[in-house]
Amino acid sequence: MNESRWRGVIEEYRSFLPVNSHTPVVTLNEGNTLLLFSKKLSQKIGTNAEVYLKYEGTNPTGSFKDRGMTLAVSKAKEIGSKTIICASTGNTSAAAAAYGARAGIKCVVLIPKGAIAMGKLAQALIHGATVLAVDGNFDEALAVVREIAQKYPMTLVNSLNPFRIEGQKTGAFEICDQLEEAPDFHLMPVGNAGNITAYWKGYKEYRKRGKIESLPRMIGFQAAGAAPIVHDKPIEHPQTIATAIRIGNPASWKGALAARDESGGLIDCVSDAEIIAAYRLVAETDGLFVEPASAASIAGLLKLARKKYFRKNLKGPVRIVCVLTGHGLKDPDRAIQTIPKPKVIPPKMEAVLKAIKSR
Ligand SMILES: *Cc1c(COP(=O)(O)O)cnc(C)c1O
Repeated sequence: MNESRWRGVIEEYRSFLPVNSHTPVVTLNEGNTLLLFSKKLSQKIGTNAEVYLKYEGTNPTGSFKDRGMTLAVSKAKEIGSKTIICASTGNTSAAAAAYGARAGIKCVVLIPKGAIAMGKLAQALIHGATVLAVDGNFDEALAVVREIAQKYPMTLVNSLNPFRIEGQKTGAFEICDQLEEAPDFHLMPVGNAGNITAYWKGYKEYRKRGKIESLPRMIGFQAAGAAPIVHDKPIEHPQTIATAIRIGNPASWKGALAARDESGGLIDCVSDAEIIAAYRLVAETDGLFVEPASAASIAGLLKLARKKYFRKNLKGPVRIVCVLTGHGLKDPDRAIQTIPKPKVIPPKMEAVLKAIKSR
């Protein structure tokens, strides 16, 4: 086997992770995702900005959740767990189902009824998970699985499981390896706030080991209708088209505040209209199809740029990384609802020419 082949985040970053020689590594060779320079977004931001997009949609199940799930499932297998369980807005269940299948461990997922994207539901089903639709929202589903995992021998694989955070911090390592330094600003969507907690942990650990010299400002974006951290209080009925961040009471709330405050960053919110505009923009100008929650990073970038938040850096370009957390194919309905349907024409050359001229 080729030694230079990517082996997944556990093998690539083993010395930073809580694994030992007895840990059975359950991997789909996740990680090693694109860090793409966006010329168009950089020009739009101005002030000698360099905007990079960390496209997590190329992970095996199509979202960053794979980074955490490889570790959570490997550790569950290490202790002989027979069942993993989670509540999910969709991507966690897709990852848990896939890694559970690979490990030969039973997987149970609770999803809020009618509130997850079709692609994600399809993933959980096809990988053989037991999928239960809860007549309630994500926060309620999470409360139930927490209780079950406390009382019964099932391993919780939501981001409350510390191994999820440990695995997800490898996203920060990759960005630093790819840029050969930390960025100045790190932008990302915030839902349950596990990922912002994980990235901040990753950056700090990389600096401690001397891999980078500086730390980025951590900037998180919630959806306006689901922005408990911005409003400093839980939201009972969170609403947003960005279902992956439709969370009213984030489990890692404290981690998000620590990331914001220790880094001198901020947590702000963006409206659904801004999310949809950004969703279209990054698809039309950079060729990246992301899911709506991921577009919150871009919506936030544009919002902060309008407020002249990114000031000139005299030492060099201002390097901004936006994490695009999941693949657009997860939620095809949203794209189809957003863009007008194709026009129907007769199978004739004149009809095609006429139709493309009238556009
Ligand atoms: C899970 C998820 C988020 C939110 O991450 P948290 O760790 O819950 O803050 C954002 N975008 C996508 C695509 C996700 O799957």
